[in-house]
This record gives sequence, C-alpha cells and structure tokens, in this order.
Amino acid sequence: MTNCNILVVEDEDAIRAMLVMVLEQADFTPIAAADAQEAQKALNEALPDLILLDWMLPGISGVEWARRLKKEPMYRDIAIILLTARGEEEDKVRGLEIGADDYITKPFSPKELVARIRAVLRRTGKLQGASTIMIGDLVLDTEQHRLSIGDKPLEVSPTEFRLMQFFMTHPDKVYSRTQLLDQVWGRSVYIEERTIDVHIRRLRKILAEHSREELVQTVRGFGYRFSLID
Ligand code: CA
Repeated sequence: MTNCNILVVEDEDAIRAMLVMVLEQADFTPIAAADAQEAQKALNEALPDLILLDWMLPGISGVEWARRLKKEPMYRDIAIILLTARGEEEDKVRGLEIGADDYITKPFSPKELVARIRAVLRRTGKLQGASTIMIGDLVLDTEQHRLSIGDKPLEVSPTEFRLMQFFMTHPDKVYSRTQLLDQVWGRSVYIEERTIDVHIRRLRKILAEHSREELVQTVRGFGYRFSLID
C-alpha cells in the first residue's frame, strides 16, 4: 500500500471512473470530484498528496483552479498533474508556469499515468519507501535527515540539507537565486540573495572534502545547477 491520497478532478463520468479504477489498482486512494467546487469541498476535509486535474472543467477551469491553489500557502505544496486533451507545447508551458508538477495529454495509457504519478510523488517525497535519494554515490536520507557520500556522513546544516534535497530531486536544471529562495526557504521568508551564495560556498567546501565540489555548479549570470555532468 502506498497510502497516497489522490484527488481526481474530471467532469467526464467515464474518464473519472476509469481514473479511479486505475488508481485503486495501483494501490492509491482516489477521491473523486466532478468540478473545482466539489474538489474544493474535498480539500476542506482532507489534503491529498496529489491532485490529478482535468484542464477543461465546467465553471472554474482546471488550470484556473490550479493557479489559485498555488497562491494559497495551505495548498501550494500539493502536487498537481494536469490532464488535457490538448497537446500544444504552449499549453504545456502555461500549465507548468502556473506551478503544475506535470502535464499528461489524453489519451494516455494507465501505465503511463501511474508512472508519472509515482515520479511526482517520489519527487515530492510522498511515496513511502522513497525516503532515500541516491545520485552517484551521494545519498540523501529524508527520514533520518542525513547526507552522505558512500558511507561517509557529511556535516551539513538543516538549510544546506534542504538545499541539497532540492538539488538532488531537481538535477540537471539551472535555478536562479530567486527560484532557490522560493523553493528552499519559502516565499514568505525574506532573505537576501547572497545568503544563498554563502550556503552554496559551504556546501561546496563540504563536498570538496570528498572531491565532489563539481556537483554544485555556477551558471554565470543565472544561478546554480546540481549535476553529475560537468
Ligand atoms: Ca473535461
């Protein structure tokens, strides 16, 4: 059992029923809603681990509701996968811009759907048994809050641990200082951007003790990237 609750918001009865069935078979616990109003009611009762959200809904559209949720501190951490009949690149970009975690174009296979849901849940640390993230010989244990290289533990502060957790769950992408602040410190906290540089420098120093300083890379004029590739 994964014990992950997934809120399914889809107005077409047949598709909603299919989604619920696929999720149950994959050991998820689905909660079904036919529109944003019903979904909001479900949210008021319990917070799901992920929302599978149809783009086109009667009344408030899926993308509009997702945009509203991502503005609410209480809901913004819930992962959202948008479902859509459209496949245009522009829609995908718009979906991801409002903060959706992934985007699936109909028609999709149950196997693809489950794989994408698992990937997002793993990334957001919601999937049981996913407490350990390994990249190369770097091991991050989110349950024990430990970072190590092979079996050698690294002495990192809680902030540096969160920074590494973010990097290791989002490898090979460049993040600006502002993006890192939002993701690691949260939008409500006021911290100067150069604070990040201080933490990055300390992280690199710790990694350098194990000759791994190249993992955290500076991208000139933009920000930082975590990658195994130089
Ligand atoms: Ca629809």
